Amino acid sequence: MVEGYEVVIGLETHAELNTESKIYCSCKNQFGLEVNTQVCPVCMGMPGALPTLNEKVVDYAIKMGHALNCTINPVCKQDRKNYFYPDLPKAYQISQAEVPLCQNGYVDIYVDGEEKRIGITRIHIEEDAGKLLHSDKFSGSLVDLNRCGVPLIEIVSEPDMRSSSEAKAYLETLKSILQYLGICDCKMQEGSIRCDVNVSVHKPGEPFGTRSEMKNVNSFSAAVRGIDYEVNRQIEILKAGGKVEQETRRWDDQKGISVSMRSKEDAQDYRYFPEPDLLTIVVDKERIDALKAEIPELPNKKLIRYIKEYGLSLKEATAISENVDKAGFFDECVNNSNVSPKSVCNWLLGDIAKYENANNISVRDTLLTPSKLVELIKIIDSGKISNAAGKTVFDIIITKDESISDIIESKSLAQISDASALESIADEVLSQNEKSVNDYKNGKTNALGFLVGQCMKASKGKANPSIMKEIIVKKLSE
Ligand SMILES: [Zn+2]
Repeated sequence: MVEGYEVVIGLETHAELNTESKIYCSCKNQFGLEVNTQVCPVCMGMPGALPTLNEKVVDYAIKMGHALNCTINPVCKQDRKNYFYPDLPKAYQISQAEVPLCQNGYVDIYVDGEEKRIGITRIHIEEDAGKLLHSDKFSGSLVDLNRCGVPLIEIVSEPDMRSSSEAKAYLETLKSILQYLGICDCKMQEGSIRCDVNVSVHKPGEPFGTRSEMKNVNSFSAAVRGIDYEVNRQIEILKAGGKVEQETRRWDDQKGISVSMRSKEDAQDYRYFPEPDLLTIVVDKERIDALKAEIPELPNKKLIRYIKEYGLSLKEATAISENVDKAGFFDECVNNSNVSPKSVCNWLLGDIAKYENANNISVRDTLLTPSKLVELIKIIDSGKISNAAGKTVFDIIITKDESISDIIESKSLAQISDASALESIADEVLSQNEKSVNDYKNGKTNALGFLVGQCMKASKGKANPSIMKEIIVKKLSE
């Protein structure tokens, strides 16, 4: 609720599929290549060129349908969506109108620790358009057609979200599922996932308000800002006694505002009709079932398993399960080893995450392997090296393929756990710190911390701190 109004949000999310070739021709589907080099008569829309459907696109879309608990339509067709825009040389986009490949699904999201189910209306396949290039270096606009014919799935949600944080959680969940399925590279900065946002507000108990559709939202944080802006804009209009217009708006993330593009009166009529150059899509049951069997354990299931089986907190389990690389790394460490899952989690969300963020890479792109991390945790647990020395080892093995025992040896990191060696350190420190010894004996227990600290210092950090402490306590009580 915002100022006594209930907020209603629905999202249309476009995800680029990472197939080798485009949806209707054999041109390469790859981002960032020289402009207008990955093109052919089909994707440039030359008259007479005939499209052929890439069956991988159908498989990928069906996988997403399974992951989002959809019904898969075994028979469906493709339709032309007609509109004029300079980035669309054919003047129509091949999409799916009435019957999508997948429909009537749902996905569960977590917001502030609460589970919420969001309905999925449909998932359909379609082709992307080209890209207009604007620059101060030239007048007018240029067009790059490399993106024409890049396969997309459009995932349409029910208007089930009630706040921008729910919308963000929904988008993050979709992204994570796409990564688990390996069907989209999810590079937001390259526009691999984009969304259109539908927003309306109404007083509780009253019918839904008039919605506006916001286009051009290409990051999750922009979606949050755009929704919050739109909610406030609509509430201001209603509070002033006005009426919210049904319209399409464009989100300008730099200025932080949305501007009207067109009203309902001049809404586009896309004149959908069946695509005559493509066959009806018919997928047999065996294939639909085989694709279902390929779905890996998805993030939501992992999340619950991590909490139940390993005792991770919701926050920890979410941070690991939502990232396919982290989750895979975690599973590999924990399966077939008896190290504590909590220790693996602490490394993954602590030093490893810090390294990933600082270098903008995934743990999978480093030289650290699950078996190396397990080895390191075991050595620390055994008391052979301290936690601090463990971090020194970690800093090396994340970038170099060196053996842990060699590092401990060459940097002399091994911890002193030998009682007689520790006792002689303790004797020396106690004899040099009579005041603290007396303080302790007179009830000032925090003197103990100081004495242990002095011993650690004397051992150059190599003394095993817990054994050291035991020895000092024993000596002080003698
Ligand atoms: Zn082509």
